[in-house]
Amino acid sequence: MKIVMLGAPGAGKGTQAKKISAKYGIPHISTGDIFRANIKGQTELGMKAKVFMDQGQLVPDEITIGMLLDRIQEDDCKNGYVLDGFPRTIPQAESLTKALANMGEQIDYAINVDVPDENIISRMSGRRACLKCGQTYHTVYNPPKTENVCDVCGEPLVLRDDDKPETVKKRLDVYHDQTQPLIDYYKKAGVLAEVDGTKDLEAVFQDIVKILGA
Ligand code: ADP
Ligand code: ADP
Ligand code: ZN
Repeated sequence: MKIVMLGAPGAGKGTQAKKISAKYGIPHISTGDIFRANIKGQTELGMKAKVFMDQGQLVPDEITIGMLLDRIQEDDCKNGYVLDGFPRTIPQAESLTKALANMGEQIDYAINVDVPDENIISRMSGRRACLKCGQTYHTVYNPPKTENVCDVCGEPLVLRDDDKPETVKKRLDVYHDQTQPLIDYYKKAGVLAEVDGTKDLEAVFQDIVKILGA
């Protein structure tokens, strides 16, 4: 099963992707997590990506597409995957469609997690992230068991630099401009499903399970 998660920054794509990954036994692939791991490891890719991420801009397609296409060739992707944060532009979606078509495959579901802009700023200012395992929390809606410590791996949690309100506004503009058109792209491909992302996170997941099947 190959799934793409769509939605604004902070809509809950990562949260739901992790739950899908656990229930259906497919890897969760987040391009944002891959970039952040590269920044932490101070790789050349990470240094390039950081400049764009800090400004709330997209990392250029030339860097992002090759990285993602390599990742989905790995062994753990044989039974599918859930992509979180990719594609984010029409050229990214087209490259993915083409690469899959060459292998006789296609995306099975594109799930749009719909949350209006008004809700996004408060979600982002409360988001706390584990830079080691990629798990995210929310100070109010999804707190960790121990304040500021990752439940999964015990690392201290951080407020991402790009989750500060000024950068979030920029990221929302970029989303509407470059990423939102993908909703139509996958609708035309006949694989779009929509969920109301303003419900609490368990209710959103139940709606997703109804789409994917138990
Ligand atoms: P969010 O969880 O808020 O949706 P991500 O962790 O997915 O954010 O992405 C953080 C940043 O990483 C983005 O603002 C962008 O700079 C970069 N990024 C992640 N995925 C992509 C992509 N597919 N194309 C270009 N840039 C990306
Ligand atoms: P995305 O990957 O789309 O950027 P996240 O999954 O990281 O979004 O979620 C953004 C923030 O909102 C996190 O702090 C997360 O804990 C919180 N969150 C996710 N889903 C919900 C929900 N349904 N209701 C309230 N808060 C949520
Ligand atoms: Zn962790």
